[in-house]
Amino acid sequence: MISTDLNKAKSILQSDNLIAIPTETVYGLAGNAFSDEAINKIFELKKRPRFNPLIVHLKSSDDLHTIAQKIPEEAIKLAEAFWPGPLTLVLKKQSHISSLITAGKDTVAVRVPNHPLTLQLLNLIDFPLVAPSANPFGSISPTSAAHVFNYFKNELEIILDGGACERGIESTIVGFEDGVSQIYRLGSVSIEEIKQVIGNIEVFHSESNEIMSPGMLSRHYAPKTKTVLVDDVEKSINQFLNKRIGLLMFENKITNTKIIAQEVLSELGDLNESAHKLYASLHRLDHLNLDIIIAEKFPDFGLGRSINDRLLRATKP
Ligand code: AMP
Ligand code: MG
Repeated sequence: MISTDLNKAKSILQSDNLIAIPTETVYGLAGNAFSDEAINKIFELKKRPRFNPLIVHLKSSDDLHTIAQKIPEEAIKLAEAFWPGPLTLVLKKQSHISSLITAGKDTVAVRVPNHPLTLQLLNLIDFPLVAPSANPFGSISPTSAAHVFNYFKNELEIILDGGACERGIESTIVGFEDGVSQIYRLGSVSIEEIKQVIGNIEVFHSESNEIMSPGMLSRHYAPKTKTVLVDDVEKSINQFLNKRIGLLMFENKITNTKIIAQEVLSELGDLNESAHKLYASLHRLDHLNLDIIIAEKFPDFGLGRSINDRLLRATKP
């Protein structure tokens, strides 16, 4: 049921069951981080592989030391700059953190989300929440309560309704393995913003990265409809002429009678607005029984880079 009843949400969480929560990035499928029973339910409901660790959500950075230890200076600076907000830090875990959360690793991913309803909830309960995105594994992330309901129907007793997610794509994940700060997953905080706080940082690229942070798994965030990411949309339309085509565009509409549906993410060419609308547009296109979604490549800087990252994963066969 879609609701804003925090007391009911609290009692469901206290009995080791799951709810959906709004965050500024995407909706989360949340359970008590100190309950293995709840954590197991998350993996089962999402059909998420057990090797894919979860993010712990705290009410405040004051609680960080209860979850993580040996926190590097850069991590403190990033937390001060971006929390509450869409940045996840991967840190050495405290020994009591369940290995179900961390997929057996000795690191834990943690952030303070920036959504008033969820912060209110976190302040009502006396445990942190673990919350991956509230979608079946691999599918398009939900950015509204209705998206979550479409996926899980009444399997969730409560989907807390916090409106459309302000940022619209997942958190940026930063890790510090071997003393080197690296971006494990591009997301709602741009690389440029991170560089302003801690100086140069690389995006971690390699096959082994897929194990470091499975959000980097090649196919992910994907519509059911075949999707391609292209530089030249007009040219691509000509390659699929007898198909039912939908377009996902950055700022300009294309005039072509062959097109069945078209989503323009920001007529003003604003990358924040584009990120905010990305998944809702993909959800809409994915429900139209199209043969193909042609997505236009975004400018490769700021949030454009994060959007391209998601579109690239959405288009992997
Ligand atoms: P989701 O909550 O669905 O956005 O996924 C959480 C992301 O955080 C996944 O990509 C995880 O792989 C990543 N993550 C969680 N814990 C760790 C960790 N200890 N090391 C690296 N990545 C992590
Ligand atoms: Mg996810």
